[in-house]
Amino acid sequence: MERHAVLITAAGSSTRMGNSVKKEYLFLGNTSVLEQCLRTFESTGLFDWFVITIPPGGVSKARQVLALWLQDPGHHQHTLFVEGASNRQGSVRNGLQALSPYEPSTVLIHDGARPWVNPQTILRVFEGTQKYGACAPVVPLVDSLKRLHPDGTIAEHVDRSAFVGIQTPQGFRFPEIYEAHLLAATDGKEYLDDTEIYHRYIGNVHTVEGDRANRKITYWEDIHMANQAGGGKQRINRIGFGYDLHRLVEQRTLWVGGVAIPSPKGEEGHSDGDVLIHAIIDALLGAISCGDIGSHFPPSDPAYKDISSRILLQKAVSLIQSAGWKVINLDCTVVLETPKLLPYREKICQTLATDLQISPSQISVKGKTKEKQDAVGKQEAIEAYAVALLESVGVPSLNHSFTDQQKE
Ligand code: MG
Repeated sequence: MERHAVLITAAGSSTRMGNSVKKEYLFLGNTSVLEQCLRTFESTGLFDWFVITIPPGGVSKARQVLALWLQDPGHHQHTLFVEGASNRQGSVRNGLQALSPYEPSTVLIHDGARPWVNPQTILRVFEGTQKYGACAPVVPLVDSLKRLHPDGTIAEHVDRSAFVGIQTPQGFRFPEIYEAHLLAATDGKEYLDDTEIYHRYIGNVHTVEGDRANRKITYWEDIHMANQAGGGKQRINRIGFGYDLHRLVEQRTLWVGGVAIPSPKGEEGHSDGDVLIHAIIDALLGAISCGDIGSHFPPSDPAYKDISSRILLQKAVSLIQSAGWKVINLDCTVVLETPKLLPYREKICQTLATDLQISPSQISVKGKTKEKQDAVGKQEAIEAYAVALLESVGVPSLNHSFTDQQKE
């Protein structure tokens, strides 16, 4: 069976007013620029391997930025992080080298700072590559083209109709582009892009229609405008819902929101059974579409036996933070026949606020009984419901362009 790979270049760094910024790690709405690239390629269903070139020493940072992507075990196994070299050409070569043991038949090489690539462009490039061996998307030049003298005066009025702008992804038969890169590494020349290397050593590069929206992030406005699109708001909110029920048994402590409540019975459970915290964790994970408490903290894992649910909550909070979200507010209902929750409510809110790193005023916890109906009404079980509102972390909107340290 033929296998295909994507190589995304994100090994360069950019500067803005002396500060190092990685465009690929900035947020576009609810995902990073880099993750948006990955998800668009994945949506085509064509690719088995995702290789990302990153700055030397940057693996843990890249993993943090792609925490949500890597939560999927399939992604985790098929995403390779490869440290880049001092220039783009060397970084791509490192990426191809890392891919070579997997023997893909095709590789599409894409700039990590082009998050607006669409699946149709990817498909056109892929098909062109299958057919011709090498293929890249191009767009007509909009502005008239002039060649200048060194003093800035116009030397030549060029007929732009014979020229195009080239974009990525650029697709190649893997063995050919790998061979071409190895040869290019020894000839002392620094090439403009991968099509030039292929053209020099292998042969002609086919072109297909590109997409003007598939531009490269160059200005802060590119990010800012993208975040304004779709609602006119820079920040994006998401809502999550969680529910849990535990049986109540003797010889167990009744934990609600991290507070031990005096009661003849407590929750049965693999962990401490804190039903409210479990509902809250599901609400948080649900808000960012990132699985549920069972997928992150499986009951089959002995590490979670009798663990305080507060530790699980703290882990869930750090996950949503690393994915670029913060909690705006939380509203919860605990359904319990007895004892009454009211005397503990303030302490519960304070405890939850500590773990959620927000103010108690952002948390509401309400108590209900089941009017002696059902298992909860018969004091055999306890239920909790939680709704959480999250907000994406804002991005800068300053009027400055990026200066690429490594030409991408
Ligand atoms: Mg539970």
